[in-house]
Amino acid sequence: MIQMRTTGKKVSIIRNRKRQSEEVFQQLRYKLKKNNFILTEKHPDIVISIGGDGMLLSAFHKYESQLDRVRFVGVHTGHLGFYTDYLDDEIDKLVENLKYDTGAKVSYPILNVKVTFENGDTKIMRALNEATIKRSDRTMVADLTINGVHFERFRGDGITVSTPTGSTAYNKSLGGAVLHPTIEALQIAEIASLNNRVYRTLGSSIIVPKKDKIEITPSRPGFHILSVDNSTYSYRNIAHIEYQIDNHKINFVASPSHTSFWNRVKDAFIGDIDE
Ligand code: NAD
Repeated sequence: MIQMRTTGKKVSIIRNRKRQSEEVFQQLRYKLKKNNFILTEKHPDIVISIGGDGMLLSAFHKYESQLDRVRFVGVHTGHLGFYTDYLDDEIDKLVENLKYDTGAKVSYPILNVKVTFENGDTKIMRALNEATIKRSDRTMVADLTINGVHFERFRGDGITVSTPTGSTAYNKSLGGAVLHPTIEALQIAEIASLNNRVYRTLGSSIIVPKKDKIEITPSRPGFHILSVDNSTYSYRNIAHIEYQIDNHKINFVASPSHTSFWNRVKDAFIGDIDE
């Protein structure tokens, strides 16, 4: 029996439900098989997401327990995204780069979110973009503590804590700063804070360094909505939430076509302006 020689690299491909993504998926699967990659969902070395930034977020969460061994690659079926290095017409280039891949990676910090409930139970989650706590029925009232220092009592719609790569997502819409992803820091941004003679918050976003611990303690009983990237949970009994930079990072395949961060920011938010 003739045995097919493999590259030894195990690849998992995940895609969204759009027809265009399905077509790219079929094409990519065929080309990877032809080039002797092993396609497997279980313990891949490389995870390729096909879709947009949202799909890369889903890929991250699917493999978040294997972050130390997995490297990600994003293929975008629209414009180039923040987590996507290849466009859908660059499949040949992607396969070629993966054939000669040496295992090099680019790593970015992620967020660790620890929710403690009133009964003492805890739940730990990880975010690639951000975690957002909100209240939808009434004004959210919560105490913000940084490294054990009570910083402010927040009143408003909610608070986001974002990673550097998440700084261009929800954080930016809230007026937060855009952080280069190699800066190991978290950013806290307010969502519609109440500021008047009685109530006061800082009003601007805050960037905290690597080792700092952020804590949010809701002070009004009731349901809170916690969003972690593209997943949303509703909890009635949160005692407090702690946020820190996680011990693990997300690793991307360092590809020759890795677009510079500032090019992505310019492409996404400014574009080419005719003067
Ligand atoms: P979605 O389909 O509503 O997409 C939101 C948009 O955010 C998309 O255009 C996506 O490309 C973009 N995006 C995602 N990550 C990004 C990043 N790191 N930098 C720049 N743009 C980014 O929702 P989804 O696909 O499920 O994504 C969830 C994300 O949506 C959340 O993590 C949050 O950052 C973002 N969001 C933004 C707002 C807002 O800007 N007002 C509100 C809610 C959620």
